[in-house]
Amino acid sequence: MENAVTDAPILVAIDGPAGSGKSSVSRAAAERLEFGILDTGAAYRALAWTALETGVDLDSAEAVADVLGSWRYETTLRGPQQVTVQVPDRSRSDVTTAIREPGISAQVSRVSKHSRVRDELNAMFRRIVAESGLPGVVIEGRDITTVVAPDAPVRILMTASPDVRAQRRAGELPGMTHEQVLADIEARDAKDALVVDFFTAAPGVTLIDTSDLDFDGSVDAVIDVVRGAQNELADSTSAANGDTP
Ligand code: C5P
Repeated sequence: MENAVTDAPILVAIDGPAGSGKSSVSRAAAERLEFGILDTGAAYRALAWTALETGVDLDSAEAVADVLGSWRYETTLRGPQQVTVQVPDRSRSDVTTAIREPGISAQVSRVSKHSRVRDELNAMFRRIVAESGLPGVVIEGRDITTVVAPDAPVRILMTASPDVRAQRRAGELPGMTHEQVLADIEARDAKDALVVDFFTAAPGVTLIDTSDLDFDGSVDAVIDVVRGAQNELADSTSAANGDTP
């Protein structure tokens, strides 16, 4: 049965730094492909939000892992993004907007630096994808092409120059100057890069530099890579079946 919902979903893994266009482009590409979208950064952000909200020390791997052990994290994979978290003895919180606040962006690297936390979140991401029931899922983050889904049939690293990235982020953060946004992005990249390398494409990963691409051009570039991989897969399947071209 080809691509039936009972099969494991086709994975499109996309990594990249803040402001590369990764999140919005991945979302639009997923929509065009009629795939789901899993934004892994949202889970790290929601974990930082929950730890701050419940007074947990973000620098303690054990304390943050305890939060992970007891929380319930839910996110939509199709349609508008909605992220909710629930911890014992508290009602469910919709954190979709709160996790985008600059205060969370500034703190999130403190939870993502713990390898134990990363391992547990990675297991959660694989579970969410496996249980999605969707024909395909675009999964985006920092270490998807290398750690979470190194065998994905499509793996992309999306980059853009720091100036372009700051320009894009400034549009989302009214009240902050270009220099402030650039400094924030570079500080967060530096902290995150201590844990995962999301600036160099691993072997077999396709690099898409969006510095000179507009939004639609970036989405087209992703779709082209996916279609190329789908054609290659179809060719190798028919070759294996002994079909004549
Ligand atoms: O992608 P986004 O900017 O929302 O990610 C927020 C933070 O989550 C990153 O700065 C990083 O600390 C962490 N992250 C990560 N690994 C991922 C996705 C996000 O460490 N796969």
